[in-house]
Amino acid sequence: MQMVSKALISLLALAAAVGAAPSKRAACSNGRSANDERCCVWFDVLDDINGDGGLFDGGECGEEAHESLRLTFHDAISISNELIKEGKFGGGGADGSIMAFADIETNFEASVGLDEIVEEQRPIAIRHNVSFGDFIQFAGAVAVSNCAGGPRLNFLAGRSNDSQVSPDGLIPLPSDSVDKILARMADAGFSPEETVALLASHSVAAQDHVDPSIHGSPFDSTPSSFDAQFYVETLLKGTLFPGNGSNPGEVESPLAGELRLQSDAAIARDSRTACEWQSFVTDQSSMVSKFTAAMAKMAVLGQDANTLVDCSEVIPVPSKALSQVAHLPAGKSLSDVEGSCQATPFPTISADPGPATTVAPVPPS
Ligand code: CA
Ligand code: CA
Repeated sequence: MQMVSKALISLLALAAAVGAAPSKRAACSNGRSANDERCCVWFDVLDDINGDGGLFDGGECGEEAHESLRLTFHDAISISNELIKEGKFGGGGADGSIMAFADIETNFEASVGLDEIVEEQRPIAIRHNVSFGDFIQFAGAVAVSNCAGGPRLNFLAGRSNDSQVSPDGLIPLPSDSVDKILARMADAGFSPEETVALLASHSVAAQDHVDPSIHGSPFDSTPSSFDAQFYVETLLKGTLFPGNGSNPGEVESPLAGELRLQSDAAIARDSRTACEWQSFVTDQSSMVSKFTAAMAKMAVLGQDANTLVDCSEVIPVPSKALSQVAHLPAGKSLSDVEGSCQATPFPTISADPGPATTVAPVPPS
């Protein structure tokens, strides 16, 4: 009885405390304010990276934005519940280890080429005295907000700057089988559906190292727009290699200039993932909300989210997607679609008019 009343009293005390919580916001630079003073520094980081000449040079959805989004995944996904169960170090997840130990981790096969963005980001994190793990997730969230239609991701701050080198082999490769990728993602806590949602990142992505002869070749025809084109175009029959032929992790793509990863093609057609994949073709808002949810989970892998402070309000509001309704590229018809969802036929979508779509590389900035 006494315990109950004690609990009740503390509940009432909590309610009173909440009721009396000051509505005062912390004053930040340039007349801005935040719900918590620990968020103020992120406005300054934002000014830095989205400013003219900054990391994203005026808020572009270009190569640095693509690579910054990629980096969030490569830092965070490196955590293994299996290894932890075996009593081994399983990696620290979204802990900044890929920046702290870049000389080791960016040499992992899956992270080839990430050394460039890490070296661009690190001095900015140091300049603002924020942790590497925080900076990587913040830069990724700002990066995707710079893309039309980009989700406004959550951003929690306060990760420790202490980390250890992640074990190798925890980041999926484009040459991995669907079995292997789904098993790896499950080991990090993600369902097949969440894996499909995370791949929306490939709607604003480009490759440099699968086929280095075609630097900056994107995975869909709208690499500056976060939209469902990726989910449509990945299901089109492959007809060509955009560069120097078949490379490990590459399969034929449907459009000149567009590169298709073997893993994307396989996940789009696998019975475990095909229906979720196809569902995004006619439901871009579901794609955005599921990506946002999966990214929120990913950004705190290895972290105790309760100890972090929510600074999501600092993330800019993105502009609308270039295309609200997914379409077929010009020159393609529904007969080119390799519909792979057994339960539901591929939806009827229209093709762009005009000569066959070709895809330009994302220029290095
Ligand atoms: Ca890490
Ligand atoms: Ca796109």
